[in-house]
Amino acid sequence: MSRQLRILVTGGAGFIGSHYVRQLVRGAYPAFAGASVVVLDRLTYAGNEANLASVRDDKRLRLVIGDICDADLLAELLPMTDVVVHFAAESHVDRSITGAAEFVRTNIQGTHTLLRACQDAGVGKFVQVSTDEVYGSIAEGSWSEDQPLAPNSPYSASKAGADLLALAYHRTYGLSVCITRCSNNYGPYQFPEKVIPLFVTNLLDGGTVPLYGDGENVREWLHVDDHCRGVQLVAEGGSSGSVYHIGGGTELTNRELTALLLREVGSDWEDAVRQVADRPGHDLRYAIDDSKIRTELGYRPRTGLAAGLADTVRWYAENRSWWEPLRTRAGATGPAVPSFRGAA
Ligand code: NAD
Repeated sequence: MSRQLRILVTGGAGFIGSHYVRQLVRGAYPAFAGASVVVLDRLTYAGNEANLASVRDDKRLRLVIGDICDADLLAELLPMTDVVVHFAAESHVDRSITGAAEFVRTNIQGTHTLLRACQDAGVGKFVQVSTDEVYGSIAEGSWSEDQPLAPNSPYSASKAGADLLALAYHRTYGLSVCITRCSNNYGPYQFPEKVIPLFVTNLLDGGTVPLYGDGENVREWLHVDDHCRGVQLVAEGGSSGSVYHIGGGTELTNRELTALLLREVGSDWEDAVRQVADRPGHDLRYAIDDSKIRTELGYRPRTGLAAGLADTVRWYAENRSWWEPLRTRAGATGPAVPSFRGAA
């Protein structure tokens, strides 16, 4: 009888990591069906046990509250692990502008500690979940995976550093590493400091939304479920040492996105939008070419933006008990932490 597959998911109580874990435990990824799943999460302000409530009683799932910077804990957890999917990060660009140190600690030092521990424990595969922001900004066209890195914010610089360390562990020590780089995600359970849940929850409360600068910054939006399916394809079949873009969402200016959200909630631009000073170093546009993952691994996004946004707005309308306490925790109602990025 073959041994049960063992997967360790870092940051599995956050927005994207918890979607991945819920799908994994529910059997949405047949190649990993029946796997035992360890979630390692420090439960920072962005981590939330409630995100895993629907699968919490499944015996295959174990939540370990701990830090990826803790080498002793990793040495305990990692032996016999087949795949590590690494979502844990400080993820909000605006927070990185006001306090970069925590980003360097978790995103760079933490990723390095994890890579070292994976190497020592003989982990079969390491998937580093990263972002298109590592490339900087692009006025026209799109980036392919061999584009040189040119990050602009402390967040994206720390993710770029982590990506380079992951590739170095592959080239120097032979650790089987894949990197995914994705565009902006949206969907349920996203912390209400990021633009879509921030705007939606403000509007649901009858408040206003802060629009950065002229609102002409362009982002490509992808539903979290499509991102996680892409990550899973890479975990199953990505070739070692490779980078894969996960995209195929829809490009929108921040003005266009705001207009769509206002329409969904039923609010007027004049009453609800207030323009605020632009973010320092605000990248104008990100755009990735994802033909590699489509050709090599058969990836296709499934959720169109109109349907995905409508579902997402409905989810926030129906789940106030999830987000109301978080808004108080983050102070995330006003222009102090508006964001159009930061892993959004
Ligand atoms: P998130 O902020 O919602 O979740 C991050 C999780 O990591 C939280 O549960 C937090 O508690 C945990 N964490 C933070 N520091 C930790 C530490 N030191 N040890 C253990 N756990 C720790 O972030 P997200 O939006 O779900 O993003 C997940 C990953 O995807 C990140 O690596 C991010 O860079 C990447 N990404 C996000 C987007 C996006 O649009 N959200 C886009 C592309 C890539």
